[in-house]
Amino acid sequence: GKGLALDIGGTKIAAAIVMESGVLANRQQIATPRGDARQLSAALETVIAPYRHQVDFIAVASTGIISKGLLTALNPANLGGLADFPLQDCIQSIADLPCVLLNDGQAAAWAEYQLLKEQCDNALYVTVSTGVGGGIILNKKLLVGNGGLAGHIGHTLSDPLGPLCGCGRRGCVESVASGTAIGAATHGWAQPLSAAHVFTMAREGHTPAENILHRSATAIAQMLADMRIALDLEQAILGGSVGLAEGYLERVTSLQTDLPDIYRIPVQAAYHQQDSGLLGAALWARAIL
Ligand code: ADP
Repeated sequence: GKGLALDIGGTKIAAAIVMESGVLANRQQIATPRGDARQLSAALETVIAPYRHQVDFIAVASTGIISKGLLTALNPANLGGLADFPLQDCIQSIADLPCVLLNDGQAAAWAEYQLLKEQCDNALYVTVSTGVGGGIILNKKLLVGNGGLAGHIGHTLSDPLGPLCGCGRRGCVESVASGTAIGAATHGWAQPLSAAHVFTMAREGHTPAENILHRSATAIAQMLADMRIALDLEQAILGGSVGLAEGYLERVTSLQTDLPDIYRIPVQAAYHQQDSGLLGAALWARAIL
């Protein structure tokens, strides 16, 4: 039957019907509320209600650590300060349907890997978005982990003297490379900018904006090198609004050329662009239900 796929990110919540064929229909998107659990519940109600009588199951890709039906934010700042949320119970109180949850980076990795499985056994998906997330495919299998933690590569170390990350550790890749970090790097400027604006300024040749993007792409290129050498990965896939922004992938690729050959991993843009999370969650749910 048909499923409802949800993708809960730090900036947006996307929803779509996933047909049996795997095609998405009726895609909708709202801004993620930046408040308490009641506001997130209300937003989910708004998103789910129009679809609930049209589908047989709900598949969710969500930011945060997803385990035992609960969402626990590794970096609560990504959800407006929300640290814990009973995601499964909340969704099932809105629509009494079978519901499968997966981390958003893991879900996107699973969708993207479907197109690579003839070519490689080991791959990494990286989203550079509100935060930095990811998903690892090892020996053709998606790593979820017993606690749902596998693939949270945004919380590997980039710079021990870097910004304090919202997770409590200093200098995580996320604190240097994410869209939030790119915006935050302009907070001391006369006119603080959004990540998209920093990209525009960099394109116009503005050196400080250029430096911020260089720093972000360097953190991603170095993290990819670490992941390659740790796991012998064969392919990386880049997604998220920052990862997919014009010129970002080229920056990462060009920074890889500074590294010894063995650390370099081929990187490509997410084929499904903004839909990888939705599609991956639906695939995962269909396999389980
Ligand atoms: P989510 O984190 O909800 O999955 P996105 O993948 O859209 O959502 O990532 C949101 C982040 O991307 C924000 O930090 C935002 O400022 C940044 N962003 C959005 N659009 C662009 C763009 N066109 N270019 C660069 N950065 C962008």
